[in-house]
Amino acid sequence: MNTFTAEVSRIQDLTHDVRALELRVLEPASITFKAGQFVSFEVPKEGQPRLVTRPYSIASSPEQRDRILLVLNLVQGGPGSSYLFSLREGDQTSFKGPAGAFYLRDDETKDLLFVATGTGIAPIRSMILAQLQRAPARPVTLFWGLRSQRDLYWQDDLDALSAAHPRFTAVTTLSRPEPGWRGVHGRVTTLVEGRIASVSDLAVYLCGGSGMIKDVTATLHAKGLCPIYREKYYDE
Ligand SMILES: Cc1cc2nc3c(=O)[nH]c(=O)nc-3n(C[C@H](O)[C@H](O)[C@H](O)COP(=O)(O)OP(=O)(O)OC[C@H]3O[C@@H](n4cnc5c(N)ncnc54)[C@H](O)[C@@H]3O)c2cc1C
Repeated sequence: MNTFTAEVSRIQDLTHDVRALELRVLEPASITFKAGQFVSFEVPKEGQPRLVTRPYSIASSPEQRDRILLVLNLVQGGPGSSYLFSLREGDQTSFKGPAGAFYLRDDETKDLLFVATGTGIAPIRSMILAQLQRAPARPVTLFWGLRSQRDLYWQDDLDALSAAHPRFTAVTTLSRPEPGWRGVHGRVTTLVEGRIASVSDLAVYLCGGSGMIKDVTATLHAKGLCPIYREKYYDE
């Protein structure tokens, strides 16, 4: 694992509390990672003498070696997210990585199901980009759960990706939509339950909070056996 210095090359506010940070690596000047892996920041925590470590998944394609994209939500008073939200374009930072066992497996014979909640989309975006590049003929499905309309982002990008790749299907579902929502409503677990007929040719990647991971795993187990890879961001 390397320590990288990097410059904040772009900041984009995606919603009221979600931000995308693009970091251009300076030293070493390129980064090699597997789609799905994360990098870690050491940040100060109030009232604690030692730095604390916070991991963030890489959301960009592994083909892009000179910069990485992170996407994260602000947790009020949280040391990791507050630090990253305090960065401005042009600032320098450092991180360690890449690391993690949640990465896109080489098996190109499987259809893929990705399930994410919230910013759990980060590693899954990287995996989807890598998969569509390497095996465009294999079906890929994404179920993404967000809370309400104000939490939506990257919908146009997913539409464009679906238009370019006929075997890619993306469904975003809102768990607590405001009145007027015409899209899919409910939890991602319900989508897995209702829309996945068979798991026999499937490999599944889950990322988000512990509740979703537990429920979706149980739902899949009830349908049969398939490889399930999981990244838990936090306990619910
Ligand atoms: C392998 C890995 C990769 C991760 N990648 C990302 C990523 O790409 N984007 C991202 O937003 N987060 C990611 N996380 C979570 C991230 O590391 C931090 O835990 C999160 O930013 C909160 O840290 P904090 O220090 O700001 O808050 P803390 O003081 O550590 O507070 C954390 C508490 O905030 C709540 N919470 C709300 N949203 C989140 C969230 N997204 N993640 C964790 N806790 C949350 C939880 O209840 C949790 O107990 C990842 C976690 C892991 C283990």
